[in-house]
Amino acid sequence: MTQVIRKAAELRDKVAAWKRSGMLVGVVPTMGALHDGHLSLARAARKQSDRVIVTVFVNPMQFNNASDLDKYPRDEAQDLALLEAEGVDVLFAPGVDEVYPDGFATTVSVAGITEPLEGAFRPGHFDGVATVCSKLFGMTQAGRAFFGEKDWQQLQVVQQLTRDLNMPIRIIGCPTIREEDGLAMSSRNVRLTAEEHELAPRLHSVMQEAAAKIRDGVPVEGALNDAKTELKDAGFGALDYLELRTVDGLKPATDLAEPARMLAAIWLGDVRLIDNIAV
Ligand code: AMP
Repeated sequence: MTQVIRKAAELRDKVAAWKRSGMLVGVVPTMGALHDGHLSLARAARKQSDRVIVTVFVNPMQFNNASDLDKYPRDEAQDLALLEAEGVDVLFAPGVDEVYPDGFATTVSVAGITEPLEGAFRPGHFDGVATVCSKLFGMTQAGRAFFGEKDWQQLQVVQQLTRDLNMPIRIIGCPTIREEDGLAMSSRNVRLTAEEHELAPRLHSVMQEAAAKIRDGVPVEGALNDAKTELKDAGFGALDYLELRTVDGLKPATDLAEPARMLAAIWLGDVRLIDNIAV
C-alpha cells in the first residue's frame, strides 16, 4: 500500500522511524501526471534504496507562465494507482500552503549554469526549481534523489546546489524514457493534438541526424543550421534553442574536443517540447 501524506510533520516522523532502523530513503520529486519516465525513476529508487517517497507538487514558483500553470495536467487518483503498482511507500502530496506557508521568505538561486538555455527562456524557473528541491530535500530527509536526464540542465543545477550547500543527499541521474517513435515522454504531451503528436517525434530524429553529422566531422554550426531549417519546414513553431554544449559546465561547444550534449526547446502548438541527447 502506498500511503498518501500531505503534511511535512507526518512525513518527518515516518522517515525518522525508517532511519532509526537503518534504512536508506530515496525520493523522486515530480509534478504528477505520471508517465513511464517518472515510473522509471521510481523503479531506480526502489533498486537503490530501502524506502521510496515520490513527491507530487505542481510548484507555482517554477512556472514563468500563468497559463502553463493553469493548464498543467493533474490526476492524483491515477498517480496513486501507478505508484501502488510500483511498490512506492509514500506519495507525498503537500498543498501550496504546506510548502510555502505565510511568511515564507527564502529563494535559493544557483548562478552560472542556470543562465543559458532554459534559464534564458524561462526567467526565474531555476530559482523555483532550486528552492523547491531544497524544501523537498529538507522535508523528506532522503539520502538519495532521482532525477531524469530529460531535464538535463535541471539535473546539473540540482547537482550543483547539493554540492554547494553540502546537502546530505546523493543526486542520481536516470536516462530519458521515450515513446516508441522517439518522442521523450512528458506530462505536457497530453496537450498535443493528434496531428501535433504525430509531428513531435521529428524533433528527436532531426537531433539524432545532426548529432551523426557532427560526429562525422560536419562543422557544428552548419549541422545545427540544417536541423533548424528542417524543423521549420516540418511544421514546428518557434525554436527557443538548438545548441551543442559541453557536458561539464554547459559551455557552448564548437567541436567534440570535450564530451558534448545537444539540447533543444521548440514550440508545437501551445506546447513547448524539450529534449537532449549525447553527442
Ligand atoms: P516533472 O514531473 O516533469 O517535473 O518531472 C519529474 C522528474 O521526472 C524529473 O526529474 C524529470 O527529469 C523526470 N522525467 C520527466 N520526463 C522523463 C522522461 N521522459 N524520462 C525520464 N525522466 C523523466
